[in-house]
Amino acid sequence: MPELPEVETIRRGLVERLVGCQITGVRVRQAYLREKVEVDTLETSVVGRTIVGIERRAKYLLLQLCPEGILVFHLGMTGRLWLGKPMAQDAIHDHLIFRLGPNLELRFHDIRRFGMCFYTMAQALLDHPRFRHLGPEPLSLEFSSLYLQKRAQGLWKPVKNFLMDATVVVGVGNIYASESLFLAKVHPSREVWRLRPLHWDRICTAIKEVLQAAIDAHGTSFSDYVDSEGRRGDFQNQLLVYGREGEPCTRDGRPIRRIVQAGRSSFYCPSCQR
Ligand SMILES: [Zn+2]
Repeated sequence: MPELPEVETIRRGLVERLVGCQITGVRVRQAYLREKVEVDTLETSVVGRTIVGIERRAKYLLLQLCPEGILVFHLGMTGRLWLGKPMAQDAIHDHLIFRLGPNLELRFHDIRRFGMCFYTMAQALLDHPRFRHLGPEPLSLEFSSLYLQKRAQGLWKPVKNFLMDATVVVGVGNIYASESLFLAKVHPSREVWRLRPLHWDRICTAIKEVLQAAIDAHGTSFSDYVDSEGRRGDFQNQLLVYGREGEPCTRDGRPIRRIVQAGRSSFYCPSCQR
C-alpha cells in the first residue's frame, strides 16, 4: 500500500511533467472504485481545464486546475498513475484515462479498486468528509512535540496505534511507525498517558527523520509499488526493524521481536525500546 513517502514521490514525478498540461478528454472504463466515480462531473468540470499545480494532503494527490477546481486521486491499496504516450490498447485494470493533448495521457490503474478519484472545489475540500478530520502533516511545523503531548493527554492507548490514527497525524503508516519508535527508543505498546515530554520530543523528531529519509529514497517498495515512471523506491534497504524479526538490533545486537497490535505487525527491540 503506498504510504506518504510513496505518494509524495509520485507527486514530485508528476509535477515535472503534468503541470501546464490541458486535460482534453476523459474516458471512464470502470466507475466502481472505492467510491463511484461521477462520470458526468469529470466530463463537464475537468475536460478543458489546465493542470497548474499538484499538491498532496495525507495520501491524497490534489491536481489543481485552472479555471479553479481540484481533481483528487487516492491510490488505495494498489492504485497507480501512469503518465505516457497514448496507448492503442487498454490494460485490464486501467479504469480512468485522461487525455492531455495528442501526445500524452494519464492512466489510473488499480487492480483492487480501493482507489478514488473525484472533482471538488478548493473551499469545499476543507469540509469534505474525507478531509475534515485529518490531523496535521507530519513534516509541517504544526506537528510538534507539544502538539503530540496535548493530543495524548489522558489517553489509554498504545503509542503505535496513537501515531497511526489519521486524526492525530496523517501519513504515519505501519512501517514508518515501527521505524520511528525504534529511533525514538520507545516501546510500541507503551501507553501514551505514561510518556513524558522527552519521549514526545524524540518521537516527533524520529517521525520527521524517518519520513524525510523515505522521501529522499523515493519511498519503500515491498510488493508492487512503483512511481509514475515505473521506478521502485529504495527505502526498504534502510529499514532498521520493520520486517527484521530475529535479526540483531543495529544498536545492541539483541534479536528484533514482532508483536501484533490492532491487527498489524509491530517490530521492535525489547532491549533498547522501553
Ligand atoms: Zn536494541
